[in-house]
Amino acid sequence: MALRKRKNKKASEEPQPRRNRKGGAPIIEMRDVTKVYPGGHMALDRVSLAIDRGEFVFLVGPTGCGKSTLIKMLIRELKATEGSVRIAGRDIGAMPEKKIPQLRRNIGTVFQDFKLLPDRTVYDNVAYALQVLGAHRGEIRRQVPEILRLVGLSTKLHSYPDELSGGEQQRVSVARAFVNHPPLLLADEPSGNLDPVTSIGVMQLLYRINKTGTTVVVVTHDREMVDNMRRRVVELYEGRVVRDEVSGGYTEESTSEFGLRMRAEMGVGAQGEPRTNGHDHERLL
Ligand code: ADP
Ligand code: MG
Repeated sequence: MALRKRKNKKASEEPQPRRNRKGGAPIIEMRDVTKVYPGGHMALDRVSLAIDRGEFVFLVGPTGCGKSTLIKMLIRELKATEGSVRIAGRDIGAMPEKKIPQLRRNIGTVFQDFKLLPDRTVYDNVAYALQVLGAHRGEIRRQVPEILRLVGLSTKLHSYPDELSGGEQQRVSVARAFVNHPPLLLADEPSGNLDPVTSIGVMQLLYRINKTGTTVVVVTHDREMVDNMRRRVVELYEGRVVRDEVSGGYTEESTSEFGLRMRAEMGVGAQGEPRTNGHDHERLL
């Protein structure tokens, strides 16, 4: 997304987006963002945060500290009371309403409660996401089976959500969020309703997606998962960033090495592994 210059304002009056070492704008940049809900509750208090393309970032903190509020600001479901939110260098607070669908096409979202359409099959849930984006029938027929293979659900194409386990339902919602390969994926407590074994499967999937170059931001309560994944951790407390730690990650790890290590460190068996054909998903990486 290019940042269009506004002719009626001098460049020097506008705060310029921060540039990273590669010279590009961060994919996410929040500057002194405050969010006060109607009624007066301050959910975010001068939050500043920059996330570069390709990063994997955990967002943690106690219930009510503002994590979901922060996520909603990034898709402009909410507007900042003060401060600026930039996505790929563009101030989305100033974006006209008609540009918001385009913004959201570039951001996949996954939620704790899956948000699947109950009266549609796995295939149709994912196909619907592409239809909404205006994809052609041929693209849909090609991309839906491919993404469902990536998440290990090739054998469940014709199942309905209530015929799937929680982990499988969450994998459908990840498939739906990622089917058009957006550069940014936001997941708000994706494993909040899942057992530890299944949660590792979902994290492994997000890790695999991150390896394709997509920036991934994951809200979670799972401290053990965060510690073991060794990725950047941003912690909120009462609406403020109280920690932002880049942890030494195993950047060269393959997805299967990652899955094996996570299961070993968390002391669980192999059942959480999505049943994928290794050849198929390596092709997508
Ligand atoms: P978290 O996701 O970290 O649990 P939230 O971002 O959902 O926290 O909420 C942060 C704070 O803002 C909480 O105190 C919550 O009660 C309050 N809050 C969230 N949504 C609204 C709303 N729509 N109206 C008023 N207050 C809200
Ligand atoms: Mg929340």
